[in-house]
Amino acid sequence: MSHSTNSAITDSTAGAGSPAPVQPISLASSDAQHLESADVIIVGAGPSGSATAAYLAMAGLDVLLLEKAAFPREKVCGDGLTPRAVRELITLGIPTPAEDGWIKNKGLRIVGGGHRLELKWPDLASFPPYGLVRTRQDFDEILVRHAVKHGARLHESTNVTDPVLDERTGAIIGVRAKAMDPDGRPTGEDLIFRAPLVVAADGNSSRLSMSMNRPKRDDRPMGVAVRTYYTSPRHDDDYLESWLELWSKDSQTGKRVLLPGYGWIFGVGDGTSNVGLGILNTSAAFGKVDYKDILKRWVDTLPPEWTFNDETMTGPVRGAALPMGFNRQPHYDLGLLLVGDAGGMINPFNGEGIAYAMESGRLASEVIAQAFARQSEAGREKVLQSYPRVMKDALGGYYTLGRGFATMIGHPEVMRLAVKYGLPRTTMMKFLLKIMANLAEPHGGDAGDRLIHALSKMAPAA
Ligand SMILES: Cc1cc2nc3c(=O)[nH]c(=O)nc-3n(C[C@H](O)[C@H](O)[C@H](O)COP(=O)(O)OP(=O)(O)OC[C@H]3O[C@@H](n4cnc5c(N)ncnc54)[C@H](O)[C@@H]3O)c2cc1C
Repeated sequence: MSHSTNSAITDSTAGAGSPAPVQPISLASSDAQHLESADVIIVGAGPSGSATAAYLAMAGLDVLLLEKAAFPREKVCGDGLTPRAVRELITLGIPTPAEDGWIKNKGLRIVGGGHRLELKWPDLASFPPYGLVRTRQDFDEILVRHAVKHGARLHESTNVTDPVLDERTGAIIGVRAKAMDPDGRPTGEDLIFRAPLVVAADGNSSRLSMSMNRPKRDDRPMGVAVRTYYTSPRHDDDYLESWLELWSKDSQTGKRVLLPGYGWIFGVGDGTSNVGLGILNTSAAFGKVDYKDILKRWVDTLPPEWTFNDETMTGPVRGAALPMGFNRQPHYDLGLLLVGDAGGMINPFNGEGIAYAMESGRLASEVIAQAFARQSEAGREKVLQSYPRVMKDALGGYYTLGRGFATMIGHPEVMRLAVKYGLPRTTMMKFLLKIMANLAEPHGGDAGDRLIHALSKMAPAA
Protein backbone atom coordinates (compact mmCIF):
# COMPACT_ATOMS: atom_id res chain seq x y z
CA MET A 1 0.00 0.00 0.00
CA SER A 2 1.25 3.44 -0.73
CA HIS A 3 0.89 6.54 1.30
CA SER A 4 2.30 9.99 1.04
CA THR A 5 3.38 12.34 3.74
CA ASN A 6 3.43 16.04 2.94
CA SER A 7 2.26 15.11 -0.56
CA ALA A 8 0.26 17.29 -2.93
CA ILE A 9 -3.42 17.21 -2.03
CA THR A 10 -4.42 16.12 -5.55
CA ASP A 11 -2.36 12.90 -5.44
CA SER A 12 -4.52 9.89 -6.17
CA THR A 13 -4.90 7.54 -3.21
CA ALA A 14 -3.58 4.13 -4.14
CA GLY A 15 -5.16 1.23 -2.32
CA ALA A 16 -5.89 -2.49 -2.40
CA GLY A 17 -7.23 -3.71 -5.72
CA SER A 18 -6.71 -0.39 -7.54
CA PRO A 19 -9.50 1.72 -6.13
CA ALA A 20 -11.02 4.41 -8.27
CA PRO A 21 -9.02 7.63 -8.33
CA VAL A 22 -10.11 10.27 -5.88
CA GLN A 23 -11.67 13.33 -7.44
CA PRO A 24 -9.28 16.27 -7.53
CA ILE A 25 -10.46 18.84 -5.05
CA SER A 26 -9.72 22.37 -4.26
CA LEU A 27 -8.94 22.78 -0.60
CA ALA A 28 -8.28 25.87 1.36
CA SER A 29 -5.26 23.98 2.60
CA SER A 30 -2.54 26.58 2.41
CA ASP A 31 -2.55 26.82 6.22
CA ALA A 32 -2.02 23.10 6.65
CA GLN A 33 1.54 22.18 7.52
CA HIS A 34 1.14 18.47 7.06
CA LEU A 35 -0.73 16.42 4.45
CA GLU A 36 -1.04 12.66 4.46
CA SER A 37 -3.09 10.15 2.45
CA ALA A 38 -4.37 6.63 3.00
CA ASP A 39 -7.01 4.20 1.74
CA VAL A 40 -9.09 4.62 4.87
CA ILE A 41 -9.01 7.16 7.70
CA ILE A 42 -10.41 6.02 11.05
CA VAL A 43 -11.20 8.76 13.55
CA GLY A 44 -10.99 7.50 17.14
CA ALA A 45 -8.96 4.62 18.59
CA GLY A 46 -11.43 3.13 21.05
CA PRO A 47 -12.48 -0.52 20.60
CA SER A 48 -14.49 0.22 17.43
CA GLY A 49 -11.73 2.20 15.71
CA SER A 50 -8.90 -0.13 16.69
CA ALA A 51 -10.84 -3.27 15.70
CA THR A 52 -11.72 -1.72 12.31
CA ALA A 53 -8.11 -0.62 11.81
CA ALA A 54 -6.66 -4.02 12.70
CA TYR A 55 -8.98 -5.93 10.37
CA LEU A 56 -8.44 -3.49 7.48
CA ALA A 57 -4.67 -3.58 7.92
CA MET A 58 -4.83 -7.39 7.91
CA ALA A 59 -6.78 -7.15 4.63
CA GLY A 60 -3.88 -5.16 3.14
CA LEU A 61 -5.39 -1.69 3.19
CA ASP A 62 -3.44 1.41 4.13
CA VAL A 63 -5.13 2.65 7.30
CA LEU A 64 -4.62 5.88 9.21
CA LEU A 65 -5.93 5.77 12.77
CA LEU A 66 -6.30 9.25 14.29
CA GLU A 67 -6.76 9.62 18.05
CA LYS A 68 -6.98 12.85 19.99
CA ALA A 69 -5.59 11.37 23.22
CA ALA A 70 -2.23 9.68 23.82
CA PHE A 71 -2.10 6.10 25.13
CA PRO A 72 -2.42 4.93 27.80
CA ARG A 73 -5.53 7.02 28.45
CA GLU A 74 -8.46 6.60 30.77
CA LYS A 75 -11.95 5.89 29.41
CA VAL A 76 -15.04 6.04 31.62
CA CYS A 77 -16.47 2.50 31.57
CA GLY A 78 -17.59 -0.42 33.73
CA ASP A 79 -14.68 -2.45 32.27
CA GLY A 80 -16.96 -5.53 32.02
CA LEU A 81 -16.78 -7.90 29.04
CA THR A 82 -19.47 -10.50 28.41
CA PRO A 83 -18.79 -13.66 26.37
CA ARG A 84 -19.97 -11.71 23.31
CA ALA A 85 -17.09 -9.27 23.77
CA VAL A 86 -14.65 -12.11 24.50
CA ARG A 87 -15.70 -13.76 21.23
CA GLU A 88 -14.63 -10.57 19.43
CA LEU A 89 -11.26 -10.54 21.22
CA ILE A 90 -10.68 -14.16 20.20
CA THR A 91 -11.64 -13.47 16.56
CA LEU A 92 -9.32 -10.46 16.48
CA GLY A 93 -6.46 -12.60 17.82
CA ILE A 94 -5.94 -10.95 21.21
CA PRO A 95 -4.74 -13.39 23.87
CA THR A 96 -6.24 -12.88 27.34
CA PRO A 97 -4.23 -14.98 29.83
CA ALA A 98 -4.70 -14.37 33.57
CA GLU A 99 -0.94 -13.75 34.00
CA ASP A 100 -1.30 -10.68 31.73
CA GLY A 101 -3.95 -9.19 34.02
CA TRP A 102 -7.18 -10.45 32.44
CA ILE A 103 -9.74 -11.37 35.11
CA LYS A 104 -12.10 -14.16 34.04
CA ASN A 105 -15.71 -14.37 35.22
CA LYS A 106 -18.08 -17.32 35.15
CA GLY A 107 -21.38 -15.50 34.92
CA LEU A 108 -23.66 -12.85 36.28
CA ARG A 109 -24.84 -12.50 39.88
CA ILE A 110 -28.12 -10.60 40.11
CA VAL A 111 -29.28 -9.00 43.35
CA GLY A 112 -32.72 -7.50 43.92
CA GLY A 113 -36.08 -7.89 45.67
CA GLY A 114 -34.39 -9.77 48.53
CA HIS A 115 -32.96 -12.35 46.09
CA ARG A 116 -29.44 -13.16 45.02
CA LEU A 117 -29.09 -15.31 41.93
CA GLU A 118 -25.89 -16.63 40.34
CA LEU A 119 -26.28 -17.45 36.66
CA LYS A 120 -23.41 -19.07 34.76
CA TRP A 121 -22.81 -17.79 31.23
CA PRO A 122 -24.56 -20.24 28.89
CA ASP A 123 -22.54 -23.11 27.45
CA LEU A 124 -22.80 -22.51 23.70
CA ALA A 125 -20.92 -23.35 20.52
CA SER A 126 -20.90 -19.73 19.34
CA PHE A 127 -19.64 -17.93 22.44
CA PRO A 128 -16.95 -18.77 25.00
CA PRO A 129 -18.38 -19.71 28.43
CA TYR A 130 -16.63 -16.86 30.26
CA GLY A 131 -16.45 -13.10 30.45
CA LEU A 132 -13.52 -10.83 31.41
CA VAL A 133 -12.77 -7.60 33.22
CA ARG A 134 -9.95 -5.24 32.20
CA THR A 135 -9.60 -1.51 32.81
CA ARG A 136 -10.12 0.51 29.65
CA GLN A 137 -6.80 2.17 30.33
CA ASP A 138 -5.16 -1.20 29.52
CA PHE A 139 -7.80 -2.62 27.19
CA ASP A 140 -7.82 0.20 24.66
CA GLU A 141 -4.04 0.35 24.54
CA ILE A 142 -3.80 -3.42 23.95
CA LEU A 143 -6.27 -3.11 21.06
CA VAL A 144 -4.59 -0.12 19.45
CA ARG A 145 -1.13 -1.73 19.69
CA HIS A 146 -2.62 -4.81 18.02
CA ALA A 147 -3.87 -2.64 15.14
CA VAL A 148 -0.43 -1.02 14.81
CA LYS A 149 1.25 -4.45 14.91
CA HIS A 150 -0.84 -5.42 11.91
CA GLY A 151 0.16 -2.30 9.98
CA ALA A 152 -2.29 0.49 10.89
CA ARG A 153 -0.59 3.90 11.07
CA LEU A 154 -1.56 5.49 14.38
CA HIS A 155 -1.37 9.23 15.03
CA GLU A 156 -1.99 9.97 18.70
CA SER A 157 -2.59 13.49 20.07
CA THR A 158 -4.40 14.29 16.82
CA ASN A 159 -7.73 16.01 17.33
CA VAL A 160 -9.93 15.81 14.23
CA THR A 161 -11.84 19.06 13.91
CA ASP A 162 -13.62 19.06 10.52
CA PRO A 163 -14.37 16.94 7.52
CA VAL A 164 -12.82 17.84 4.17
CA LEU A 165 -15.53 17.69 1.54
CA ASP A 166 -15.57 17.16 -2.18
CA GLU A 167 -17.09 20.43 -3.39
CA ARG A 168 -18.90 18.68 -6.22
CA THR A 169 -20.55 15.76 -4.39
CA GLY A 170 -20.50 16.85 -0.74
CA ALA A 171 -18.82 13.54 0.14
CA ILE A 172 -16.12 13.43 2.79
CA ILE A 173 -12.66 12.91 1.31
CA GLY A 174 -10.52 13.67 4.30
CA VAL A 175 -10.31 15.39 7.66
CA ARG A 176 -8.64 18.38 9.21
CA ALA A 177 -6.99 17.95 12.58
CA LYS A 178 -4.96 19.77 15.18
CA ALA A 179 -1.88 18.31 16.82
CA MET A 180 -2.15 18.32 20.63
CA ASP A 181 0.56 18.54 23.27
CA PRO A 182 0.77 16.01 26.15
CA ASP A 183 -1.56 18.23 28.24
CA GLY A 184 -4.23 18.11 25.53
CA ARG A 185 -3.63 21.67 24.27
CA PRO A 186 -3.27 22.43 20.53
CA THR A 187 0.37 22.81 19.50
CA GLY A 188 -0.62 25.13 16.65
CA GLU A 189 0.19 22.52 13.99
CA ASP A 190 -2.66 22.05 11.49
CA LEU A 191 -2.96 18.73 9.76
CA ILE A 192 -4.88 17.42 6.77
CA PHE A 193 -5.45 13.76 6.08
CA ARG A 194 -7.20 12.47 3.03
CA ALA A 195 -8.76 9.19 1.96
CA PRO A 196 -11.71 8.09 -0.18
CA LEU A 197 -13.35 6.61 2.92
CA VAL A 198 -13.54 7.94 6.49
CA VAL A 199 -14.75 5.85 9.44
CA ALA A 200 -16.29 7.71 12.39
CA ALA A 201 -15.21 5.78 15.50
CA ASP A 202 -15.15 8.89 17.67
CA GLY A 203 -17.60 7.68 20.30
CA ASN A 204 -20.90 8.79 21.70
CA SER A 205 -20.87 12.47 20.76
CA SER A 206 -19.30 11.79 17.32
CA ARG A 207 -18.46 15.29 16.34
CA LEU A 208 -17.49 14.06 12.89
CA SER A 209 -20.94 12.52 12.26
CA MET A 210 -22.56 15.72 13.52
CA SER A 211 -20.54 17.80 11.10
CA MET A 212 -21.74 15.50 8.29
CA ASN A 213 -25.33 16.20 9.30
CA ARG A 214 -25.97 12.95 11.15
CA PRO A 215 -27.50 13.96 14.48
CA LYS A 216 -28.82 11.58 17.15
CA ARG A 217 -32.30 10.15 16.74
CA ASP A 218 -34.60 10.97 19.62
CA ASP A 219 -36.78 7.90 19.03
CA ARG A 220 -34.04 5.60 20.32
CA PRO A 221 -33.30 4.84 23.97
CA MET A 222 -30.37 6.58 25.59
CA GLY A 223 -28.71 5.89 28.92
CA VAL A 224 -26.45 7.64 31.36
CA ALA A 225 -23.84 5.77 33.36
CA VAL A 226 -21.42 6.80 36.11
CA ARG A 227 -18.64 4.86 37.80
CA THR A 228 -15.70 4.98 40.16
CA TYR A 229 -13.16 2.58 41.70
CA TYR A 230 -12.72 1.47 45.32
CA THR A 231 -10.03 -0.68 46.87
CA SER A 232 -11.99 -3.69 48.09
CA PRO A 233 -11.65 -7.32 49.15
CA ARG A 234 -14.14 -8.01 46.36
CA HIS A 235 -11.58 -7.08 43.69
CA ASP A 236 -11.15 -10.68 42.50
CA ASP A 237 -14.83 -11.66 42.28
CA ASP A 238 -15.30 -14.31 39.59
CA TYR A 239 -18.84 -13.16 38.79
CA LEU A 240 -20.02 -9.84 37.35
CA GLU A 241 -22.58 -8.51 39.84
CA SER A 242 -25.61 -6.35 39.09
CA TRP A 243 -28.10 -4.79 41.51
CA LEU A 244 -31.55 -4.18 40.10
CA GLU A 245 -32.91 -1.76 42.67
CA LEU A 246 -31.85 1.84 42.19
CA TRP A 247 -34.13 4.34 43.85
CA SER A 248 -34.73 8.05 43.49
CA LYS A 249 -37.34 10.33 45.06
CA ASP A 250 -40.21 11.93 43.13
CA SER A 251 -39.69 15.68 43.63
CA GLN A 252 -43.45 16.34 43.78
CA THR A 253 -44.85 13.44 45.81
CA GLY A 254 -41.66 12.67 47.77
CA LYS A 255 -42.31 8.98 47.04
CA ARG A 256 -39.50 6.55 46.23
CA VAL A 257 -39.29 5.71 42.50
CA LEU A 258 -37.63 2.56 41.15
CA LEU A 259 -35.36 3.55 38.24
CA PRO A 260 -34.94 1.55 35.01
CA GLY A 261 -31.33 0.51 35.27
CA TYR A 262 -28.88 -1.31 37.48
CA GLY A 263 -25.85 -0.84 39.65
CA TRP A 264 -22.76 -2.97 39.04
CA ILE A 265 -19.80 -4.25 41.00
CA PHE A 266 -17.05 -5.63 38.76
CA GLY A 267 -13.81 -6.89 40.33
CA VAL A 268 -10.83 -5.54 38.43
CA GLY A 269 -8.36 -7.94 40.05
CA ASP A 270 -5.80 -5.23 40.87
CA GLY A 271 -7.09 -4.58 44.40
CA THR A 272 -10.00 -2.45 43.18
CA SER A 273 -13.63 -2.90 42.14
CA ASN A 274 -15.32 -0.87 39.43
CA VAL A 275 -18.62 0.28 40.95
CA GLY A 276 -21.18 2.20 38.94
CA LEU A 277 -24.70 2.45 37.64
CA GLY A 278 -26.54 2.99 34.40
CA ILE A 279 -30.03 4.40 33.96
CA LEU A 280 -32.28 4.51 30.88
CA ASN A 281 -33.99 7.66 29.61
CA THR A 282 -37.36 5.90 29.38
CA SER A 283 -38.59 6.83 32.85
CA ALA A 284 -40.13 10.14 33.88
CA ALA A 285 -37.27 10.59 36.38
CA PHE A 286 -34.61 10.73 33.65
CA GLY A 287 -32.70 14.00 33.48
CA LYS A 288 -34.04 15.11 36.85
CA VAL A 289 -31.90 12.87 39.01
CA ASP A 290 -28.39 13.35 40.36
CA TYR A 291 -26.65 10.17 39.21
CA LYS A 292 -23.66 10.63 41.48
CA ASP A 293 -25.99 11.02 44.43
CA ILE A 294 -27.91 7.86 43.51
CA LEU A 295 -24.61 6.02 43.24
CA LYS A 296 -23.52 7.26 46.65
CA ARG A 297 -26.82 6.37 48.29
CA TRP A 298 -26.80 2.88 46.78
CA VAL A 299 -23.15 2.27 47.74
CA ASP A 300 -23.91 3.40 51.31
CA THR A 301 -26.39 0.49 51.62
CA LEU A 302 -23.74 -2.11 50.73
CA PRO A 303 -21.99 -4.20 53.42
CA PRO A 304 -19.20 -2.15 55.10
CA GLU A 305 -16.73 -5.04 54.86
CA TRP A 306 -16.71 -4.53 51.06
CA THR A 307 -15.07 -1.16 51.85
CA PHE A 308 -16.84 0.98 49.29
CA ASN A 309 -16.43 4.36 51.00
CA ASP A 310 -14.86 7.79 50.54
CA GLU A 311 -11.53 6.64 52.02
CA THR A 312 -11.13 3.72 49.60
CA MET A 313 -12.31 5.56 46.48
CA THR A 314 -9.29 5.72 44.16
CA GLY A 315 -10.64 8.20 41.60
CA PRO A 316 -13.51 10.61 41.00
CA VAL A 317 -17.00 9.50 39.96
CA ARG A 318 -17.17 10.04 36.22
CA GLY A 319 -19.94 9.45 33.73
CA ALA A 320 -21.01 9.56 30.10
CA ALA A 321 -23.98 8.87 27.84
CA LEU A 322 -24.86 5.46 26.42
CA PRO A 323 -26.17 5.81 22.83
CA MET A 324 -28.39 2.80 22.11
CA GLY A 325 -30.34 0.91 19.48
CA PHE A 326 -28.74 2.56 16.39
CA ASN A 327 -29.52 6.11 17.46
CA ARG A 328 -27.39 7.59 14.68
CA GLN A 329 -28.07 6.66 11.08
CA PRO A 330 -27.45 6.07 8.21
CA HIS A 331 -24.45 4.01 9.09
CA TYR A 332 -22.93 4.80 5.70
CA ASP A 333 -23.39 7.69 3.31
CA LEU A 334 -21.26 10.23 1.44
CA GLY A 335 -17.98 8.51 2.25
CA LEU A 336 -18.55 8.42 6.03
CA LEU A 337 -19.10 5.05 7.77
CA LEU A 338 -20.08 4.79 11.45
CA VAL A 339 -18.93 2.14 13.94
CA GLY A 340 -19.49 1.64 17.69
CA ASP A 341 -20.93 4.42 19.83
CA ALA A 342 -20.71 6.87 16.91
CA GLY A 343 -23.44 4.74 15.30
CA GLY A 344 -25.39 4.40 18.58
CA MET A 345 -24.64 0.69 18.82
CA ILE A 346 -24.98 0.04 22.56
CA ASN A 347 -27.32 -2.82 23.46
CA PRO A 348 -30.53 -1.30 24.98
CA PHE A 349 -31.09 -4.44 27.09
CA ASN A 350 -27.92 -4.20 29.18
CA GLY A 351 -25.90 -1.08 28.25
CA GLU A 352 -23.04 -3.15 26.86
CA GLY A 353 -21.10 -1.40 24.11
CA ILE A 354 -17.61 -2.88 23.72
CA ALA A 355 -18.77 -6.10 22.05
CA TYR A 356 -20.84 -4.12 19.56
CA ALA A 357 -18.06 -1.59 18.93
CA MET A 358 -15.73 -4.46 17.98
CA GLU A 359 -18.41 -6.37 16.10
CA SER A 360 -19.34 -3.35 13.98
CA GLY A 361 -15.63 -2.87 13.29
CA ARG A 362 -15.39 -6.46 12.08
CA LEU A 363 -18.49 -6.25 9.89
CA ALA A 364 -17.50 -2.82 8.55
CA SER A 365 -14.03 -4.02 7.63
CA GLU A 366 -15.46 -6.97 5.67
CA VAL A 367 -17.60 -4.56 3.66
CA ILE A 368 -14.75 -2.07 3.19
CA ALA A 369 -12.26 -4.73 2.04
CA GLN A 370 -14.79 -5.95 -0.54
CA ALA A 371 -15.47 -2.37 -1.65
CA PHE A 372 -11.78 -1.61 -2.20
CA ALA A 373 -11.42 -4.71 -4.36
CA ARG A 374 -13.83 -3.21 -6.90
CA GLN A 375 -12.28 -1.56 -9.95
CA SER A 376 -14.65 1.37 -10.34
CA GLU A 377 -15.77 4.11 -8.00
CA ALA A 378 -19.40 3.14 -8.69
CA GLY A 379 -18.66 -0.48 -7.77
CA ARG A 380 -16.99 0.56 -4.55
CA GLU A 381 -19.85 2.85 -3.61
CA LYS A 382 -22.39 0.08 -4.24
CA VAL A 383 -20.60 -2.21 -1.79
CA LEU A 384 -20.24 0.53 0.85
CA GLN A 385 -23.95 1.32 0.55
CA SER A 386 -24.64 -2.26 1.73
CA TYR A 387 -23.17 -1.60 5.20
CA PRO A 388 -26.35 -0.17 6.80
CA ARG A 389 -28.22 -3.30 5.70
CA VAL A 390 -25.44 -5.56 7.02
CA MET A 391 -25.71 -3.87 10.44
CA LYS A 392 -29.51 -4.04 10.43
CA ASP A 393 -29.45 -7.73 9.52
CA ALA A 394 -26.96 -8.40 12.33
CA LEU A 395 -28.58 -6.40 15.13
CA GLY A 396 -31.61 -4.42 13.89
CA GLY A 397 -34.39 -6.79 14.96
CA TYR A 398 -32.73 -7.46 18.32
CA TYR A 399 -32.36 -3.72 18.95
CA THR A 400 -36.04 -3.17 18.15
CA LEU A 401 -36.87 -5.72 20.87
CA GLY A 402 -34.47 -3.87 23.17
CA ARG A 403 -36.28 -0.63 22.48
CA GLY A 404 -39.55 -2.23 23.57
CA PHE A 405 -37.88 -3.60 26.68
CA ALA A 406 -36.40 -0.18 27.56
CA THR A 407 -39.81 1.48 27.20
CA MET A 408 -41.46 -1.21 29.32
CA ILE A 409 -39.08 -1.03 32.26
CA GLY A 410 -39.30 2.77 32.18
CA HIS A 411 -42.57 2.28 34.08
CA PRO A 412 -41.53 1.87 37.74
CA GLU A 413 -44.39 -0.57 38.38
CA VAL A 414 -43.28 -2.91 35.57
CA MET A 415 -39.71 -2.76 36.86
CA ARG A 416 -40.92 -3.52 40.40
CA LEU A 417 -42.99 -6.52 39.30
CA ALA A 418 -40.16 -7.81 37.11
CA VAL A 419 -37.73 -7.74 40.06
CA LYS A 420 -40.30 -9.24 42.47
CA TYR A 421 -41.63 -12.07 40.30
CA GLY A 422 -38.82 -12.57 37.75
CA LEU A 423 -35.83 -13.05 40.02
CA PRO A 424 -37.06 -16.07 42.00
CA ARG A 425 -37.58 -18.03 38.77
CA THR A 426 -34.18 -19.41 37.80
CA THR A 427 -35.23 -20.93 34.45
CA MET A 428 -36.84 -17.71 33.38
CA MET A 429 -33.79 -15.71 34.51
CA LYS A 430 -31.46 -18.02 32.51
CA PHE A 431 -33.56 -17.28 29.44
CA LEU A 432 -33.56 -13.55 30.23
CA LEU A 433 -29.76 -13.59 30.63
CA LYS A 434 -29.48 -15.01 27.11
CA ILE A 435 -31.76 -12.31 25.72
CA MET A 436 -30.23 -9.44 27.65
CA ALA A 437 -26.60 -10.32 26.92
CA ASN A 438 -27.48 -11.33 23.33
CA LEU A 439 -26.08 -14.82 23.80
CA ALA A 440 -28.45 -17.03 21.85
CA GLU A 441 -26.96 -19.77 19.68
CA PRO A 442 -27.45 -18.57 16.08
CA HIS A 443 -27.78 -22.08 14.64
CA GLY A 444 -29.68 -24.86 16.36
CA GLY A 445 -29.59 -24.35 20.11
CA ASP A 446 -32.44 -24.97 22.51
CA ALA A 447 -36.04 -23.75 22.43
CA GLY A 448 -35.03 -20.51 24.17
CA ASP A 449 -32.35 -19.76 21.55
CA ARG A 450 -34.83 -20.41 18.76
CA LEU A 451 -37.44 -18.18 20.39
CA ILE A 452 -34.95 -15.31 20.73
CA HIS A 453 -34.01 -15.62 17.06
CA ALA A 454 -37.62 -15.85 15.94
CA LEU A 455 -38.49 -12.69 17.92
CA SER A 456 -35.44 -10.81 16.59
CA LYS A 457 -36.34 -11.82 13.02
CA MET A 458 -39.99 -10.85 13.42
CA ALA A 459 -39.20 -7.43 14.86
CA PRO A 460 -38.65 -4.75 12.22
CA ALA A 461 -34.94 -3.85 11.97
CA ALA A 462 -34.17 -0.76 14.06
C1 LIG B 1 -19.94 4.66 32.81
C2 LIG B 1 -19.94 3.71 31.63
C3 LIG B 1 -19.82 2.36 31.87
C4 LIG B 1 -19.80 1.46 30.79
N1 LIG B 1 -19.60 0.14 31.05
C5 LIG B 1 -19.48 -0.73 30.04
C6 LIG B 1 -19.13 -2.09 30.30
O1 LIG B 1 -18.90 -2.48 31.45
N2 LIG B 1 -19.06 -2.95 29.24
C7 LIG B 1 -19.28 -2.54 27.96
O2 LIG B 1 -19.21 -3.37 27.04
N3 LIG B 1 -19.58 -1.25 27.68
C8 LIG B 1 -19.66 -0.33 28.67
N4 LIG B 1 -19.91 0.99 28.40
C9 LIG B 1 -20.04 1.41 26.98
C10 LIG B 1 -18.67 1.48 26.30
O3 LIG B 1 -17.80 2.27 27.07
C11 LIG B 1 -18.78 2.05 24.88
O4 LIG B 1 -19.85 1.43 24.20
C12 LIG B 1 -17.48 1.83 24.09
O5 LIG B 1 -16.42 2.56 24.68
C13 LIG B 1 -17.64 2.26 22.63
O6 LIG B 1 -16.43 2.16 21.96
P1 LIG B 1 -16.10 3.13 20.73
O7 LIG B 1 -14.79 2.70 20.21
O8 LIG B 1 -17.24 3.18 19.79
O9 LIG B 1 -16.01 4.59 21.38
P2 LIG B 1 -15.02 5.13 22.51
O10 LIG B 1 -14.57 4.04 23.39
O11 LIG B 1 -15.74 6.29 23.12
O12 LIG B 1 -13.77 5.65 21.71
C14 LIG B 1 -13.81 6.83 20.95
C15 LIG B 1 -12.39 7.31 20.74
O13 LIG B 1 -12.41 8.42 19.83
C16 LIG B 1 -11.54 9.42 20.29
N5 LIG B 1 -12.01 10.69 19.74
C17 LIG B 1 -13.17 11.34 20.02
N6 LIG B 1 -13.25 12.48 19.32
C18 LIG B 1 -12.12 12.55 18.57
C19 LIG B 1 -11.62 13.50 17.64
N7 LIG B 1 -12.29 14.62 17.36
N8 LIG B 1 -10.43 13.28 17.05
C20 LIG B 1 -9.73 12.15 17.32
N9 LIG B 1 -10.14 11.22 18.21
C21 LIG B 1 -11.33 11.41 18.81
C22 LIG B 1 -11.67 9.33 21.82
O14 LIG B 1 -10.56 9.93 22.46
C23 LIG B 1 -11.73 7.83 22.02
O15 LIG B 1 -10.46 7.25 22.15
C24 LIG B 1 -19.95 1.93 29.45
C25 LIG B 1 -20.09 3.30 29.22
C26 LIG B 1 -20.09 4.19 30.29
C27 LIG B 1 -20.23 5.66 30.02
